[in-house]
Amino acid sequence: MATLMAPSPAAPTSTPTPSALLPVYKRAPIELVRGEGIRLHDAEGKEYVDFTSGIAVNALGYADEGLRSAIRAAADGLVHVSNLFRTAPGEQLAQQLADRSFADRVFFCNSGVEANEGAFKFARRWARTVGSPAKHEIVGVRGSFHGRLFASLAATDRPSYRAPFRPLAGGVSIAERDLESLAGILSTETVAALVIEPIQGEGGVRVFDAGYLRELRAMTLDRRIVLMFDEIQCGLGRTGHLFAYQRVDVVPDLMTLAKPIAGGLPMGAILMTEEIAATIQPGDHGSTFGGGPFVASVASHVLDRVSDPGLLESVRRGGQWLGEALRDLAARTGKIRDVRGVGFIWGIDVHEPAAEVIRRAREEGLLLVGAGDYTLRILPPLVAIQADLEEGLHRLERALG
Ligand SMILES: *Cc1c(COP(=O)(O)O)cnc(C)c1O
Repeated sequence: MATLMAPSPAAPTSTPTPSALLPVYKRAPIELVRGEGIRLHDAEGKEYVDFTSGIAVNALGYADEGLRSAIRAAADGLVHVSNLFRTAPGEQLAQQLADRSFADRVFFCNSGVEANEGAFKFARRWARTVGSPAKHEIVGVRGSFHGRLFASLAATDRPSYRAPFRPLAGGVSIAERDLESLAGILSTETVAALVIEPIQGEGGVRVFDAGYLRELRAMTLDRRIVLMFDEIQCGLGRTGHLFAYQRVDVVPDLMTLAKPIAGGLPMGAILMTEEIAATIQPGDHGSTFGGGPFVASVASHVLDRVSDPGLLESVRRGGQWLGEALRDLAARTGKIRDVRGVGFIWGIDVHEPAAEVIRRAREEGLLLVGAGDYTLRILPPLVAIQADLEEGLHRLERALG
């Protein structure tokens, strides 16, 4: 192996990782081998209640019979032909998304970050076509997470993710959240789009209220700026509404989806109004794999399942119960500083490093994910029922000690 630098004196003294995988994740020391419902099992036979959903991906839990049949059926059809040709599943999925949302047009890609990068391009294309050539800037807000490629990272408020990779993409910035400073920034001639997660996920689970989002809508309409919602984590049923924007009744111009959309297969989507779509020309964007027949067929099944009014109602009711139970847990144990969330996305601020609680929870048979150094995130599969939530909270209480 060629080496670009002399070995540093601090060269690996810790145990070498027993894996050829690039260590960009601090993986938990368990190997998961199977699951059913909201439970996972490791190679040693230990069972876990899963409050991570593969980071908001596994809305239908594990070993779901409907999802399995959809995957089997999709495998009997075409897997891939490229976007040089028409295929029915992608067109059908785009229509289903358009029928159930504000959107008129949909672009498919393969992940969340890819959806955001594409959406930024579409926002710029629109702004320059209908506004002025100077209009180009994408503005994100404090606490945001939009992914880890260059433009999305530039819109992501995580100094430790950003610093090693400067310079990030230009023309992308982060603003303070308060309406007064946003009003000032959005009045700049160069701003093309404001991007925000209606519920910030990675940044600590911050639920923006309807009044705040309504103000952003008014400001952006007023100034002819695209309002873009990143619903990659909070969309597709997680709030108990199909889309988070429907919960607050504030309609964006552009919206990105990914995580749960294809039941764990890679897919992202950019939803937009006809006004934005009308400014996009052939060749402006593309994706070799995006919206292929295999993944699109599976996503159609998932979309039908998470659109089910019974499921959404169950998430709303479960979420109400979770909120009360978590506040009660906070009051009883004194180990929780704050509880925030809605539906099946909750953040819990604790007094000790979140990683410590997550480790103890794992020992108690509960899988959790962090959202910042002192915040635990609870993301149960949307199919979780009351008894599942209760069992998870029992284990959480034991982990809090
Ligand atoms: C996960 C996430 C992304 C990035 O999605 P990837 O599929 O990991 O690229 C972007 N925005 C939000 C809000 C997310 O939660």
